[in-house]
Amino acid sequence: METIRTVAWMKERARAARREQRIVGLVPTMGALHAGHLALVERARRECSPVYASIFLNPKQFAANEDLSRYPRPLEADVEKLTAARVDGLFLPDATEIYPAGFCTYVQVEGLSERLEGRSRAGHFRGVSTVVMKLLEIVQPHFAYFGRKDAQQVRIVQQMVRDLNLDTETVVCPIVREADGLAMSSRNAYLEGEDRKAATVLYRALRAVESEIAAGMRDSLELQRAMHKMLASEPRARVDYAEIVDAETFEPVVRVERRCYGVLAAYVGKTRLIDNMLVEPTGDDLRVEV
Ligand code: AMP
Repeated sequence: METIRTVAWMKERARAARREQRIVGLVPTMGALHAGHLALVERARRECSPVYASIFLNPKQFAANEDLSRYPRPLEADVEKLTAARVDGLFLPDATEIYPAGFCTYVQVEGLSERLEGRSRAGHFRGVSTVVMKLLEIVQPHFAYFGRKDAQQVRIVQQMVRDLNLDTETVVCPIVREADGLAMSSRNAYLEGEDRKAATVLYRALRAVESEIAAGMRDSLELQRAMHKMLASEPRARVDYAEIVDAETFEPVVRVERRCYGVLAAYVGKTRLIDNMLVEPTGDDLRVEV
């Protein structure tokens, strides 16, 4: 696997592949790779060649009080994982390569970026959409792979791709979970001792909603109540939000009758975790994917 550190070289490599009529895939990450990231790589490998992964811990999507300085950076292990997964190239720019002195252009997806995660993390999605825009412009992949773990982020990226007429198709992959249901996340490394066990409460809250839906409940206030009840049962957890929202707008819905998400964010100890479930109508029934 080739490691590519500059924008110019990354552009050159991807451009050469496109000239040869090859299908270019991109898997953007912030590193500290786990099976969730590797599932994106596997999917990309089935559909594209070459596949590029990027590792860029994007400072612009972290607020000043957030965990940028302590975010895990196990670069050697990441390189090993990507090599084993047969990624063709790792785009590994440093911050000044992406944001040289004088950088002042941002992408803001309005509305969508202000809700839920955006409300709790001011400026977060502006940083995300800006860096994803740059990565998509640099690599110009035919396909870019994202996890449903960050459902609102994916929706924002899709809106940006549509609004700015980008020639990339976004591919959304399912959430990969630990055996006990905890959604894999680089931030799970922060969870120690009892907090690790307590963290499964997010998954349990989603499963509680799933059971309610299976029993015929469609009223979102009732479904939200089920999530809050489960979250409140875990003394180490503090809920930030737990809502049922429309899958397009991320606005609250009254009843779960169209495509929507159950989304939640909670602190377990000092660690902030997010998770979600997808609810989709299928004929006259609903399909739930946790
Ligand atoms: P991150 O490194 O956290 O920025 O994540 C990079 C990509 O991996 C994003 O598209 C995430 O949605 C995706 N991802 C992270 N965790 C998971 C997971 N547990 N399952 C599937 N995709 C994930």
